[in-house]
Amino acid sequence: MAEERITDQGAKDYKEFLHPVMLKNYGQWKYHEIVKPGVLVHVAESGDKIYTVRIGSPRLLSTKSIRFFMATADKYCDGFLRWTTRNNVEFMTDKEENVDKIIKEVEADGWPVGGTGRTASNMVHTQGWVHCHTSATDASGIVKSIMDSVFEDFTNENLPGKLKMALACCLNMCGAVHASDISVLGIHRRPPKVDYHLLGQICEIPTTIAACPTGAIRQDIVDGVKAMKIVEDQCMFCGACYTACPNMPIADPLNDGVSVWVGGKISNARSKPTMTKLVVPYLPNNPPRWPEVVEAVNKIISVYKENGKKYERLGEMIERIGWPKFFKLTGFEFTKYHVDDFKLAFKSYNTSAHLRF
Ligand code: SF4
Ligand code: SF4
Repeated sequence: MAEERITDQGAKDYKEFLHPVMLKNYGQWKYHEIVKPGVLVHVAESGDKIYTVRIGSPRLLSTKSIRFFMATADKYCDGFLRWTTRNNVEFMTDKEENVDKIIKEVEADGWPVGGTGRTASNMVHTQGWVHCHTSATDASGIVKSIMDSVFEDFTNENLPGKLKMALACCLNMCGAVHASDISVLGIHRRPPKVDYHLLGQICEIPTTIAACPTGAIRQDIVDGVKAMKIVEDQCMFCGACYTACPNMPIADPLNDGVSVWVGGKISNARSKPTMTKLVVPYLPNNPPRWPEVVEAVNKIISVYKENGKKYERLGEMIERIGWPKFFKLTGFEFTKYHVDDFKLAFKSYNTSAHLRF
């Protein structure tokens, strides 16, 4: 490749976008503190300080909102800001006197400041009905409904520890539902519907069969025409075949819905990183405000508030009190769907003789 070749492929070096104080002290940070919910200060070995003001955003942003963020960053942060994985916007400045000015300006425009420390995080989420063809639930609508209900817990340190939340609108999980304290996961409960008549004209049969990760699709002949059929018992409702063949839609207004998972974390502070575990196997899609899902999430949060110790994550609390007690306190029913019967499940089985009730 020519040395000076200009290309728009791949990410640029992130150091180009760091605030000069961050660049100067890269890898030389002594400590950081949460000044108040939504405001962090990082102190470097050199004595330099950089302040961060975090605001929640809905992820799908209008040009007007982005222009407002840019203007605020130009005014107070030397033009530097960043987006976090959980869709927060962070304004960074080395001038302490700018912190309150940023807060005043963003709050006047309707943006909440918070999401740091012992608060409910903004939710990392996926595309939902607005964009993705395999979604089993919406993303923006359901996240807005949940975040409205925990608004006070985003802006205040009301919780025992960090509460990170996520939503993925199908089990392909473009959101971090595998390792968040509370996760909402859209689920299909029926396999794709195959429209035999147009299949041969629209889809490549071998490519579609090869797209199925569980080998559930078989070649078939219908009315003398080459077609496909799905072995339902083998289908895990992933929608991969629909990506390869638009004549196998998986969306189903009657059977699609939402499941709720808890107890995941990526951090290795105090205890090892853990995967989320199922608590509610199915709740209906009930737009525009998803009351059943909002109620379930808030039930979990209230049990966490009442029983969690300071800095304890939700999963750590559940491990301490025991899963049976967690089900009892939340009132969720333990069903056959909570038994992990996946063929590699033995890797996650509790193989110790230690049971807690
Ligand atoms: Fe699409 Fe599934 Fe990703 Fe949602 S989680 S954006 S439905 S692939
Ligand atoms: Fe296979 Fe997934 Fe299609 Fe089911 S939905 S048939 S598992 S590709």
